[in-house]
Amino acid sequence: TMAKEWGYANHNGPDHWPELFPFAKGNKQSPIELHTKDIKHDPTLSPWTASYDPGSAKTILNNGKTCRVVFDDTYDRSMLRGGPLIGSYRLRQFHLHWGSSDDHGSEHSVDGVKYAAELHLVHWNPKYNTYGGALKQPDGIAVVGVFLQVGSEKGEFQLFLDALDKIKTKGKETPFTNFNPSCLFPACRDYWTYQGSFTTPPCEECIVWLLLKEPITVSSDQMAKLRSLYSSPENEPPVPLVRNWRPPQPLKGRIVRASF
Ligand SMILES: [Zn+2]
Repeated sequence: TMAKEWGYANHNGPDHWPELFPFAKGNKQSPIELHTKDIKHDPTLSPWTASYDPGSAKTILNNGKTCRVVFDDTYDRSMLRGGPLIGSYRLRQFHLHWGSSDDHGSEHSVDGVKYAAELHLVHWNPKYNTYGGALKQPDGIAVVGVFLQVGSEKGEFQLFLDALDKIKTKGKETPFTNFNPSCLFPACRDYWTYQGSFTTPPCEECIVWLLLKEPITVSSDQMAKLRSLYSSPENEPPVPLVRNWRPPQPLKGRIVRASF
């Protein structure tokens, strides 16, 4: 059975999550495998837009499971709208999932292709008043997922990576301001959308996913920098933070739609 804290190791990894988190065996879990031949273009899907205030970025932290940039979401500052969404959603945080080498690490896969990493930008619908309230609604959260593939270096990503030196170990947090995460979007705005869940416990089924078709490209050195983080606290033997992705979950009859 699972240790007191969930994680990605054999004793507390994704196979064990349902023991403590019943949502994790629900019918709308994420991530999923995308099979593009089965996905239909939906002409009713409109383009999405993000209008982010760089001043709303607050801190960057290492929670032992990922690195996360946290935004001020106390009012409508950094917003996502359009696409499959009704109304506008506030940016709360972004984080990444990655693997132990460049040939895997993303959570979603496309026609069997796993990317080196996957960026998740988490937004919530303020019509539900609080983030906690939004977690209880099927359309409470909107996550934009961006795939990272390895190739040439991405300068904008380096602004984020340079901050990792200050949060090497679990529990570290440092100010991170004046950053516009839209610099991490690919040029093409085409997306797939479906109803799913958080990929980390408690795996609430409250997410409208927008998965961007076009990956961004980062260098192998930049991926290595992500893997230089530790999942262990400062006062313990260092454990690299190198495998923080959940494997694909059953589709269970859900429909994935394409904007293109
Ligand atoms: Zn995530």
